[in-house]
Order: sequence, then structure tokens, then C-alpha cells
Amino acid sequence: MSAGKFEYAPAPESRSVVDLRSSYGLFVGGEFVPTVDGRMFKTVSPATEEVLAEVTEAGAEDVDRAVRAARTAYDSVWGPMSGRDRGKFLFRIARLIQERARELAVLESLDNGKPIRESRDVDIPLVAAHFFYYAGWADKLEYAGFGADPRPVGVAGQVIPWNFPLLMLAWKIAPALACGNTVVLKPAETTPLTALLFAEICQQADLPPGVVNIVTGAGATGQAIVEHEGVDKVAFTGSTEVGKAIARSVAGTPKKVTLELGGKAANVVFDDAPLDQAVEGIVNGIFFNQGHVCCAGSRLLVQENVYDEVLDRLKRRMATLRVGDPLDKNTDVGAINSAEQLRRIATLSEVGEAEGAERWSAPCELPDRGYWFAPTIFTGVTQAHRIAREEIFGPVLSILTFRTPAEAVEKANNTPYGLSAGVWTEKGSRILWMADRLRAGVVWANTFNRFDPTSPFGGYKESGHGREGGRHGLAAYLQAGHPKAGHPKEAARA
Ligand code: NAP
Ligand code: MG
Repeated sequence: MSAGKFEYAPAPESRSVVDLRSSYGLFVGGEFVPTVDGRMFKTVSPATEEVLAEVTEAGAEDVDRAVRAARTAYDSVWGPMSGRDRGKFLFRIARLIQERARELAVLESLDNGKPIRESRDVDIPLVAAHFFYYAGWADKLEYAGFGADPRPVGVAGQVIPWNFPLLMLAWKIAPALACGNTVVLKPAETTPLTALLFAEICQQADLPPGVVNIVTGAGATGQAIVEHEGVDKVAFTGSTEVGKAIARSVAGTPKKVTLELGGKAANVVFDDAPLDQAVEGIVNGIFFNQGHVCCAGSRLLVQENVYDEVLDRLKRRMATLRVGDPLDKNTDVGAINSAEQLRRIATLSEVGEAEGAERWSAPCELPDRGYWFAPTIFTGVTQAHRIAREEIFGPVLSILTFRTPAEAVEKANNTPYGLSAGVWTEKGSRILWMADRLRAGVVWANTFNRFDPTSPFGGYKESGHGREGGRHGLAAYLQAGHPKAGHPKEAARA
């Protein structure tokens, strides 16, 4: 253990709260069923490479069955049900998530590699909060600003990534169900387990069969959902590349679509910022969840006259980060989610060095087994460098400098993305001035990576379109709703 770190005894969370089956079918029509035309694959713990369970890779016929189950449930039960009754089911699910929070948190950390501190204190509480929040909307939709009698869209096909598996499920399923839609959801190939446990929670809540269907699988399964004729609405979170392919495939069909894609957020530190707080914000901005965060503050812009001081404090802080066992309650940075993602991070970091940027990694011992990458920063980065332009989706920060607020804005906006941004300054007027000019769906001031179900989230430009969360998040799941409904300024800009 390096100097500056306190010695802590191991504090592992017990895995015994999780009751894993060796093999999982698909959750269709309220039951776990074997595949018709698919096959099985394994999901591993990225921290140890241990196989956790065998999961089904759904084929096109499986997807068809799930969509038909969702349609039947929509026509016969869920569509006609009153908002008040739908709300009761959602409140019940939210309470069950709270009751089973520890089990969900441990399973999320096992399958994804994220620290238990984060799954326990951030992911799962936010999952429950999302269900509570949209449960509250279910009987008040006529007051949401989408007309006197807003109608659901029908069957929603939803495809989500691996970085916040259960939280992304909640962002998709809670508003869809509140509005009266039924869903077919595919979790990511590397993190299917909490979605399958959520399926058990739906059973426990006596949710009518077919309202929620979970089909596990890989890219082809996702594609089969997106392309299925029985799907009325597609909701996707993932890479910009796949998002573009989905946009092409639904073009010319009556399907509604929302896309939440990648990002390369600027985190802007002015010379009057409280620097210790700013350093905490920088660390949280890029090393939270191993940097597997679409809105991560992956481009740090520091005002030139405080650059040396910020860099010095940042390195000192990074040297205290604990990297290792995701189930240890003292761990700050867990495992990289997959071998494939580790390769991508390593490759882009090599490109950064080859292009002339200077690399520094926190001194830490990485475990022998599993997928690991030390928290890393690059200095001497210019706007033309690939590590300043492309999303790395890992614990790697590119540091640039600026002199004036105008230069900060210009550099911050010089990206094909526009999901989030951060501003650190003592001046309230400067925060507002910056927020007005930054082309990003979310602007955090003197904080970073804060999420709340009441607050809309989404991107500009190649970060996607449509909003999730808040009242805006209802629009995507209502016939009258327009994804850009909301503040007129936002509609004009998006
Ligand atoms: P990805 O490859 O696009 O995968 C996302 C999901 O789509 C996965 O379930 C994936 O299945 C599936 N998929 C792959 N190919 C598909 C296709 N042709 N048609 C339909 N579905 C398909 O993204 P990722 O690498 O897993 O996730 C990281 C990306 O997500 C990053 O770019 C990140 O910024 C973005 N993200 C955005 C947000 C946001 O809210 N804006 C939030 C989180 C993440 P497999 O699991 O089998 O690949
Ligand atoms: Mg896994």
C-alpha cells in the first residue's frame, strides 16, 4: 500500500445474501421460460473472471414471443387499467426494491465490477427513487402538460448498456409503465443478472403477466427488438455508433424513438473555485464507476494560473484511491466491466502517449485476475488529440488549460457530443453565464455526477435526443408527448 493511504482491514460485504441460480431462462409473460431458438452464454464477475451463471441468448422467435406477450398484456390489462391502480403496482415494486436493496447491490457489484459503496449508496437508492417518482405520476398524467387525456404508446422495446444495469432499467421501465405501456427490455450481455432479479420482483409484486418482459442476449437480440414490427416505441441507451444504426432502422416507420448516447464532458475549473472541493469533483467526475459513465467529466479544463496547483492536489488525492475488490466497503475504484472494454481503454491510452500527451497513473497494486486499469491522467493534451475527442469510457482523464471564460466555452463546446458539463467557480453570475453557453443537456455547478429522478437528463448533438427523468421523461411514453416538449429555450436549441 502506497504512502498517504490509511491501512484498512478488509471489509468485504457478504455474498451470501444473493441466491444465484446456475441457469436463467427468459422472463416472458410473467414466467421464466426456456429459449425457443436461442442458446446459452455465461456471465462472469469482471473482478475475478469467475462464472456467475448461465444466461439465455434470445433468438428472433424468443423476441417475437416476448413482444406478443407485451401486446396481449397491453390490450387486455395494463392499457385499460386506471392510473391509480398502475401506480399501486409501481409503489409496490419500489418498496420491494428497497426491501431487497442489499441483495440487489451485491449482485450488481458482482456482475458489473462496481464498488459496493456505489451500488449500495448510489445505484440502488436511485433505482427505488425512480420507481417511487414515476409511481406518483401514474394517476396525474392529465396534469403533466401533455393534454387532457394523454394515451400510452403501446409496446416499448428497450435496450440498455452495462455501466448502470439496474439504474438504466429503472430509467426505462418506470416511466413506461407509469404511462400505461408494456415493455420488452434487453439488458447488456455482460450484466444481465440484476434485470433477472428484477423479473423476480415483478412476480413478487403480482405485476400482471406480460407487462414486463426481460429478454437477455447480445447485439443481435437488441436488433431483433428494435426491428420488430410489434414494437411501437424504441428506447435505447448505449454507444453513438449503435444509436445511429437504430435511428436508421426506425426511420420511415411509425416507431417513436429516444436515444441516450455517448459523451465527452468538459469539467471547467476557474481560478476562484474552492480547489479542494473542485479536486473532489474532478475525482468523482471521472473515477466514479471506473469512468464508465456517459456523462463523466472526462475533459478537465483548468484555468492556466491555477493549473500547477490543481494538478498537484489532484495527484495527491488520486494516490489515496483504493482500487480493488468491488465487494470491499472501502474500495473506491472497482474492476473494468469486460476484457473488451479494458482493451479499448488501454488502446486509447496508448494512442494518447503516441500523440505526445504525458501519462500519469495513480500508484496502486492491481489484482492478478480480472480486468483492471489504474486511475490515469494525461497532461499536455490538445484539442486535436484523440483522447480529447473520443469517449474512452474508463478511468482516464484528459487535462487541458484555458485563460478566459470565452476560451473555456469554446473549448468545452468543441466536441461532437453534448451530454453534460461542470463549472467550478465562486461567482454565481459566472455559473449562469457559462450554463447559458455550454451546449450540454446537464450543467453541474460546483458538483458533478448528481442524479435525481425529478430532473430531466439527455443530450445535444451526437449524445442523442429525447429526455429521460422528470416530467420530460413522460413525453417519450405518451402519444401526445413530444420528446422536446418542455422549456421553449430547450426546444429551440436541441
Ligand atoms: P453499445 O455497444 O451500444 O450497447 C448498448 C446496448 O445495445 C447493449 O445492450 C448491446 O448489447 C446492445 N446492442 C449492441 N448492438 C446492437 C444493435 N445493433 N441493435 C440493438 N442493440 C444493440 O454500448 P456499450 O458499449 O455497451 O455502452 C457504452 C456506451 O453507452 C457509451 O458510449 C456510453 O456513453 C453510452 N451510455 C449512454 C448513457 C446516456 O444516458 N446517454 C448512459 C449509459 C451509457 P451487448 O450488451 O450485447 O453489446
Ligand atoms: Mg458480468
